[in-house]
Amino acid sequence: MTHWFGLTAAQRVAEVEAAGLPAFRAGQISRHVFERHELDPADYTDLPLAMRELVAKRWFAPPLTLASELTADKGRTVKRAWRLHDGAVIESVLMRYLRRDTLCISSQAGCGMGCPFCATGQGGLQRNLTDVEILAQLADAEAALVSGSLPGKPGRVGNVVFMGMGEPLANYNAVMTAIGQIIEPVPNGWGISARGVTISTVGLVPAMVRLSAEGLPVTLALSLHAPDDELRDELVPVNKRFKVAEVLDAAWNYARVTKRRVSIEYALIRDVNDQAARADTLARELRKRGDWAWVHVNVIPLNPTPGSRWTASTAQSLTDFVARLERAHVPVTVRDTRGRDIDGACGQLAATVPPDELGT
Ligand code: SAH
Ligand code: SF4
Repeated sequence: MTHWFGLTAAQRVAEVEAAGLPAFRAGQISRHVFERHELDPADYTDLPLAMRELVAKRWFAPPLTLASELTADKGRTVKRAWRLHDGAVIESVLMRYLRRDTLCISSQAGCGMGCPFCATGQGGLQRNLTDVEILAQLADAEAALVSGSLPGKPGRVGNVVFMGMGEPLANYNAVMTAIGQIIEPVPNGWGISARGVTISTVGLVPAMVRLSAEGLPVTLALSLHAPDDELRDELVPVNKRFKVAEVLDAAWNYARVTKRRVSIEYALIRDVNDQAARADTLARELRKRGDWAWVHVNVIPLNPTPGSRWTASTAQSLTDFVARLERAHVPVTVRDTRGRDIDGACGQLAATVPPDELGT
């Protein structure tokens, strides 16, 4: 099924003409979608009624159906679970900040990487999302922000982070096609700055190398979580294939080629990876690859997930760990835990839809 989101500007014109409509209708439709964020052709009143119906049927079959919605942080965090046409469920999380809105989206239904501290990893991979399914999450958030249906002022998505369910670099082509549309200027795409797009990866080295060569200034985040192979083999099973040294080299190469500072994600787990010696090793591993301009560490207090034997570090260990990195001059920030009480924070997305909403 062809969806408007998945077509290039030229393909849209060709599609419109093939449907027997004049070419200028393509631009009209795109302005509704990408300028005004109207997703239902029934609202395109500058199109004749019969044409609205044809447009809806041909190019706007909804890729996602809302399965549930939860809000937290006084309405500033909204987690939506979506059902796909085959019944798979994915989630996206909108976080409203003072000056910008950030949308965290899924790239796969489930994830095959099996990181034991991550809820998504526990269910395995169901399937890759299509570019259209990835983009539909953004389209929905933009529509909600523009319509003013959310608490707070109407807004626009300024940042899109691939930190929801799935490993984006394991679904490379669909993710890259989606990013192409995300950064395509309005009215042919969403017109979001490439710098506002973040791909978070567990460290698939060949795909990181490929991404470096794309010439796209998107931000790369590497989920490292341990600076040594012995521990990382356990926390991030794919480390058995791509070792710490290789993933850090690939991250450094990304920074070198794109001139974009890479973000190193480090979920702090009590008595597992929060020791002073590990902070020192981390600092050393990063510093030996370049001066501090290439990298920045983002410490994430571990979010609780069902069945996990690990817990977050104490506040004191968190402070000590960060201070230790700072003493070594590592640029470091601590990630907030938005959405934690609705299982909407990092690593908590497992698409648990309340049974009554599953229609069972
Ligand atoms: N698969 C990609 C992107 C999705 S996960 C990746 O792993 O990078 C997004 C981020 O959440 C990653 O940095 C991941 O390591 C982190 N994460 C997973 N489980 C977590 C948890 N329980 N607490 C805190 N962060 C977690
Ligand atoms: Fe997959 Fe990322 Fe979770 Fe690991 S942390 S299981 S790569 S989603």
